[in-house]
Amino acid sequence: MEKISYKLSIEKPSTHYCNVELRFRSEHTTDKISLPVWTPGSYLIREFARFVSNVSCRDENNDLVSIQKVNKNTWQINGQPGERIVSYRVYCNETTVRSSVINNKRAFLNGSNFFMRVENKEHLEHEVEFKVPDAWRNISTGLYQRSQFIFYHKNYDDFIDCPVEIGNQIIESFEVNGIKHTISIHGKGNYDPKRLQGEFKSIVETQSNFFGGIPYDFYTFLIDFQESGYGGLEHKNSFAAIFPSWDFNDPEAYRKFLGLISHEYFHLWNVKRIRPVELGPFDYDKENYTESHWITEGWTSFYDNLFLYRSGLINESEYYSLIKREVNEVLHYSGRFEMSLAESSFDNWIKFYRKHENTRNEQISYYTKGALVAMLLNLEIIKLTDCKHSLDDVLLCLWKDYKENPETGYTQSRVRDLCESICGKSFETFWQDFIYGTKDIPIDQYFELSGLKLVDTNSGKISLDVAYSSNHEGVYLNEVYKGGTAYDSGLQSGDEIIAINNIRVSRNQLDKILGSFKYGDEIEVMINRGGYIETQSVKLIPALPNYNIELIEEISEQQKAFRDKWLNG
Ligand SMILES: [Zn+2]
Repeated sequence: MEKISYKLSIEKPSTHYCNVELRFRSEHTTDKISLPVWTPGSYLIREFARFVSNVSCRDENNDLVSIQKVNKNTWQINGQPGERIVSYRVYCNETTVRSSVINNKRAFLNGSNFFMRVENKEHLEHEVEFKVPDAWRNISTGLYQRSQFIFYHKNYDDFIDCPVEIGNQIIESFEVNGIKHTISIHGKGNYDPKRLQGEFKSIVETQSNFFGGIPYDFYTFLIDFQESGYGGLEHKNSFAAIFPSWDFNDPEAYRKFLGLISHEYFHLWNVKRIRPVELGPFDYDKENYTESHWITEGWTSFYDNLFLYRSGLINESEYYSLIKREVNEVLHYSGRFEMSLAESSFDNWIKFYRKHENTRNEQISYYTKGALVAMLLNLEIIKLTDCKHSLDDVLLCLWKDYKENPETGYTQSRVRDLCESICGKSFETFWQDFIYGTKDIPIDQYFELSGLKLVDTNSGKISLDVAYSSNHEGVYLNEVYKGGTAYDSGLQSGDEIIAINNIRVSRNQLDKILGSFKYGDEIEVMINRGGYIETQSVKLIPALPNYNIELIEEISEQQKAFRDKWLNG
């Protein structure tokens, strides 16, 4: 059987290098091979070919074959038909979920960083043999295993969708419906692997029950505990996640970790299978645009926490405190009036991963606002159907669509049609206002239907509404938020605040000094702006809101039913 074979050898891990050998049979005199410029799930052109060097090609007689680089990530091979053996070296020293790292302890490898794609042979089975230091005992991946060191998948897309952890990681496993789930844990920390195993199992059981079964042969969780860092990347039957090692005694951080696990696992349905029509088959050479990340990431961010509640891993008030974070991330900043969800999705290639000091004034995240709009859409459906249906039903219809036709993704209009057919009412205004428009989201109004209310804990407070960093001497403004006191009075990011009304401002004092004034007061702020000392009059206006979610004490049966439908489906 014709296949594409790779050998990946790590000889001296301290150099962070690995040598790759790619072998395939060519029927032509010209072939093209290329390395992806991005990795699915992380929407930024990352130019993985920048870590590739020493590219050469030989035939089965070990004679050199001509290979020429024709653009930043593509090589052209010219020779007589026959065996092609391409060798190259890849440097890996970036510890994130979408990149690769090789060091004296381990290798974490993302296929898009290593495996060159042979044009027109993507449909063939792809196989890799690992040659790694003898002391590394474990290989964890979503790839199928052929022998101790040989792994494979049915085509290029699925092959590079399976990151690999090689080293001496802890291995835990459990079964759900007879299907094996393996947890690979790299890194020390104050976590309990057995407890994690139970929690992961609850998440798997609850989500797979919801969707009516498990759509993979086995699943691998690739968990990496680092000194710092946070992130996850979803795949069809695995995900990679990074989380701080020593955060597990903090209940809030623990919930954040479980939220990450629930989020990445949920993606196996939402985005890896149920997907926007634009996201597949992937073009690995350039940006793949879609307006639907408010569904791929927003709905996932809504359901990750909801499924923690439905799994019994958090209680109701803990669930609301997780939503509170999203509410404040959106409603505190004015970017929500500047950018729509569709625009935020489409432009993620140039904006989302490149935040700067003014981002919160002019952009929104399709994660956080997407999660809130998913919540609103859910509540709207519950309202219109008198608590008979919810967003759960739309999601299950999309899942049914996928199962009937796995090769085709959904369109925005399909999602809207489903909402309309479930509710018997047009969602045109909803889409115009909240997906394609920047109308403020009326969370309070919807919360009231379910017996909840938003309470502004910043009411009556004074704040500059800035993000700042400080050392012993100065307070440096990193971000200045539109609508707040500092922005209104002309303070800028980059300014160093030296004194307020001639009182020296140092670390931890800013809020205390401000607290001694009241609305409408004018203060004199001495700043250092680019090396020049200036004094600026600043008029104090009310702080931007910061909300708590509270229960309304006496609620009707209808409000109870509404809340129950939301929480329990
Ligand atoms: Zn996600």
